[in-house]
Amino acid sequence: MSKRVLTGDRPTGKLHLGHFVGSLQRRIELQEDKSYDEIFVLLADDQALTDNFSNPKKIRNNIINVTLDYLSVGLDPNRVTFAIQSQLPALKELTFYFLNMVTTARLERNPTVKSELELRKFEGGVPVGFFVYPVSQTADIVAFDATTVPVGEDQKPMLEQAREIVQKFNSIYGDCLIAPEILLPKNASGNRLVGIDGNAKMSKSLGNCIYLSDNEDTVKEIVMKKMFTDPLHINVSDPGHVEGNVVFTYLDAFASDKQINTFAPEYKTLDEMKEHYKKGGLGDVKCKKVLLEVINELLSPFREKRKYWEDRIDEVYDILYNHTKKAVDVSNNVASRCAKAMGIDYFNDKNLILGEWKDWLSQK
Ligand code: ATP
Ligand code: MG
Repeated sequence: MSKRVLTGDRPTGKLHLGHFVGSLQRRIELQEDKSYDEIFVLLADDQALTDNFSNPKKIRNNIINVTLDYLSVGLDPNRVTFAIQSQLPALKELTFYFLNMVTTARLERNPTVKSELELRKFEGGVPVGFFVYPVSQTADIVAFDATTVPVGEDQKPMLEQAREIVQKFNSIYGDCLIAPEILLPKNASGNRLVGIDGNAKMSKSLGNCIYLSDNEDTVKEIVMKKMFTDPLHINVSDPGHVEGNVVFTYLDAFASDKQINTFAPEYKTLDEMKEHYKKGGLGDVKCKKVLLEVINELLSPFREKRKYWEDRIDEVYDILYNHTKKAVDVSNNVASRCAKAMGIDYFNDKNLILGEWKDWLSQK
């Protein structure tokens, strides 16, 4: 069976190292994996509007930022289809029918919805559009016949919800839709990256990010001046803690032993460097300088690719246009298939409307 991937992002801001660790890295692996026939990446502007409806400009402006982020980390427009959600009418069509496949009680029970609602604290009530976004997300997945959805553990309830909707639809209208499988991160930590302030999550709204588009000066300023270390490590000679120390958490996430050895030749491995820090005698400034090199080594090819695409911004627009057009066709086909399964494709077959009436007339 052909395998198809659906992933995406809400274009609410530039992407950061957390996005790289949590999702972009995986997508790059998937694009190299020939067992996947198609990879669709959705710029989920409609979904972003559910809680930003009064500020469509913000969403509009971030479409190009996120697309440049994709291209700069190496998502290949010849391999991946980038599509703008709002331009795909089939998604709205499918959402409308899928809304009948789920109860309000079931949506209220969805743990992801629950925690998102707590986080957002909508004043004056929850917009219905936001409340039903798991249903629209189901349409996003189903509309591409996606078999595989790579997401974090926190998105598990969303995939379960999608599978339930698909199963209900299929049980009523016949086998029509593919129930998607979740593809979880490889390691138990779920690849969640902490913020530069030590907060459990790097997140735009927490203002604790290193953005993929940050230049060398900005990254230097963040690492050297803003990044948290071990608050108990006051003098260089003091023993230090590596657990919960952001610098070491990032070295764990991004540095190879080879890099450690290159940027701090007195250590063969990161473990050796950690041992020295724990014993005392290794200063934070030195550790930060090593980390800065490591992050710049990661980001520098991204910066080059970004520059390449920024110089060809009209081409980027054309990619979005052509890819979205392809996605319109793919999703329209699925929506037509659903309409046929439901027997509401009235203008494809005259008998759907007139058939029984004619039978009845001939029996009179
Ligand atoms: P916002 O502050 O607007 O919520 P954000 O920076 O937290 O933005 P999201 O748009 O909420 O980012 O994240 C979307 C997806 O990106 C998440 O579901 C997750 O897969 C991935 N992601 C975001 N931040 C991180 C992170 N710090 N570590 C790992 N993955 C992340
Ligand atoms: Mg978030």
